[in-house]
Amino acid sequence: STMLEVRGLAHRYGAGPDAHVAVEDLAFTVAKDELACIVGPSGCGKSTLLRCIAGLIKPSAGEVSLHGDRVVGVPDDLAVVFQDYSRSLFPWLSVRGNVEFPLRTRVGSRAERRARAQEALGWVGLSDAANKYPWQLSGGMQQRVSIARALATRPALLLMDEPFASVDAQTRADLEDLLLRVRRDHGSTVLLVTHDIDESVYLGDRVLVLSKSPASIVADLKVDLPAD
Ligand code: ADP
Ligand code: ADP
Repeated sequence: STMLEVRGLAHRYGAGPDAHVAVEDLAFTVAKDELACIVGPSGCGKSTLLRCIAGLIKPSAGEVSLHGDRVVGVPDDLAVVFQDYSRSLFPWLSVRGNVEFPLRTRVGSRAERRARAQEALGWVGLSDAANKYPWQLSGGMQQRVSIARALATRPALLLMDEPFASVDAQTRADLEDLLLRVRRDHGSTVLLVTHDIDESVYLGDRVLVLSKSPASIVADLKVDLPAD
């Protein structure tokens, strides 16, 4: 079934002669449980597209639906992981506090919030780091916390904006495999944007290739690797 549908999406920054068209007439769908990667050159409009889907900016035209409901504002059942982990975690909250934070408006019971946070930290291999603070962790571990925080809400759709672009190569390979494993074990629909073609083919069941700015889809490929 269809989880995400994007129709006629366009976004322009500014107005008049200074306007900059970042995204132009995009249309695609993402099926439930699919891991779709969007790949395109830097500046082509990937972040703009993701922010429109997340409801963080209102597109100039077109619409976005999540399991059939039109997205207006920031949907409760959608989570985003950004590239910049160092600015995405609250420094005054412990790892557990960070992961529990978005649950405060979603899960009534304190014990249930604690249990969900601990479960999500287990998925990313950070069960023992719950009482640490973000500054005590490496960049890769901080990004694991961001991923745990997103997954703890059990989002219908997980959006990831260059999630592994700010960590070293080894950490990045570890995090890529972690994403594939978590998804295989716990199921989730993911839309990930990256400028890295290799990464998109490694991670994606499907790769949508964007043109240079303004972004439009130039290829929609199914990645079908033989089972190993
Ligand atoms: P990508 O994520 O693919 O690198 P972006 O979506 O960040 O691309 O940007 C697409 C285009 O829109 C770029 O030319 C960028 O400079 C421009 N842009 C992005 N954000 C803004 C903004 N807030 N105001 C004006 N132009 C912007
Ligand atoms: P990304 O590729 O991850 O979007 P960028 O470096 O392109 O990162 O953008 C970083 C921030 O700067 C974003 O918030 C974006 O909206 C803003 N930005 C990018 N280009 C412009 C621009 N031409 N004018 C104003 N803001 C911009």
